[in-house]
Amino acid sequence: MSELEKRTWAEVNLDNIRHNYRAIRNSLPAGCRFLGVVKANAYGHGALEVAKVLEECGADYLAVSCLDEAMELRDGGISMPVLILGHTPCEYTRMLVENDITQTITCLAKAVEFSEEAARLGKELKVHIALDTGMSRLGVLCMDDRFDGGVENIIRACKMPGLKPEGVFTHFAVSDTEGADNERYTREQFRLFCEVIDEVRAKGGVDFQIRHCANSGAVVNYPEMCLDMVRPGLLLYGYGDPENRLGLKPCLRFVSKVTTIKHYAPGTDVSYGRRYTTDRVTRMGVLGVGYADGLPRLASNQCSFAVAGGLAPQRGTICMDMCMIDLTDLPAAAVGSEVEIFGPVNPIETVASAAKTIPYELLCALSKRVPRVYKKF
Ligand SMILES: *Cc1c(COP(=O)(O)O)cnc(C)c1O
Repeated sequence: MSELEKRTWAEVNLDNIRHNYRAIRNSLPAGCRFLGVVKANAYGHGALEVAKVLEECGADYLAVSCLDEAMELRDGGISMPVLILGHTPCEYTRMLVENDITQTITCLAKAVEFSEEAARLGKELKVHIALDTGMSRLGVLCMDDRFDGGVENIIRACKMPGLKPEGVFTHFAVSDTEGADNERYTREQFRLFCEVIDEVRAKGGVDFQIRHCANSGAVVNYPEMCLDMVRPGLLLYGYGDPENRLGLKPCLRFVSKVTTIKHYAPGTDVSYGRRYTTDRVTRMGVLGVGYADGLPRLASNQCSFAVAGGLAPQRGTICMDMCMIDLTDLPAAAVGSEVEIFGPVNPIETVASAAKTIPYELLCALSKRVPRVYKKF
C-alpha cells in the first residue's frame, strides 16, 4: 500500500503484542500456561499475524470462536494447540481431528454426537469441557440443584469413546467489573468451578490436565484464579487494565487523514440531519472515515480525534465513508494531516464511551475496508 493510497488504516504494533505477552506472562505463577485469545480476527488486529507472534514468543495455546477461524490459523501455518470456544457442528469432527483442533464440549448431547462421530472415524477428538458457573451462556450447568447432574454428565462425557478430555474451563461474567457484589459473584463462580472439578475427580477419577477460567478481568483482579492456564484476550492487546499495573501498551492505532478543509460562516448546518450548527467562523476538516470503517455513528457529535498536537471535536452526523472535525483551534492541521481516531494519544476507552460501547466492540468493528499495517521493530 503506497502512502498516497492511505485513506484510513490501522497500524498494528506487533512489538507491543510481544511486550504485553511478556508482561502478562511475568505476572503469572510459575508453570501457568498462557492461552492467547485470537477470535474475531484477534480483536481486529489480524489473527494470523498475532498468532505468529504468540507462537514465536512461546505461548501455549490459542483460542478462536469457530472452525473457520481455527482453519485460518492452520492454513496459515500455525501448529500450536488451538481451542474452539464456541459450537462446531459434529459433521466437522473429521476436520477437527485431522487439523489437531481442540473442541469445547458444552453439554452431554454434544458430547454424544462428537463421540459417535469420532469413534466412527476411528479417531480421537481433543476436548475441553465448558462449565456454566453463572455466565448462563454455553457450558454444562452445575449451579445449585444442577450440581450432581452436571458432575455426572461431565464424568460420562469424559469416558466416551473417541473423546480425549484434556481440559475444563468456565467463563466469568463480571471479573472485570468493580463492586462488592461483582466480587462475590466471581468468587462464587470460581468456588463452584473448583468444587465441580474436585467432585469429578472424586466420583469419576477424571483428572483434567488443564483447568482454566481467567479471562482478562480475572488475570488483573483475581490472580489467584490462574490455575493451570490463563485466557486473556483484551489484555493482550493492551486494554482492560485500567490502572495499567502490568505496564501494557495498546497495540492498535486507527488513523485517517484530513482530505479537505472548508470555512463556514456561523449558523451553518453540518451533515445529515443537520445535527450540528456552527456557532462561529469554523474551519472544518473532512475525514475519509465513517461508520463503514468501524467508526460508530452513535459517537456523532460526542467524540474528538487527535490531530496536529491537539484534539479536534467531531461535528455533525458521522456518515458511511466520511465525517467532519472542527480544526478552527488547530491551525497546524492541514489537508493531508494524520488524524488518530483512537490509539496511544486518543484512548479507545474515550471513543468507546462516546459511542456508548466498550473497547471490545470498537476493535471488532474495524471493517475489512481498513487495511492493517504491521509495524515490527
Ligand atoms: C472472549 C473470551 C475470552 C477472552 O476474554 P477477554 O475479556 O478479552 O479476556 C476468554 N474466554 C472465553 C470463553 C471467551 O469467550
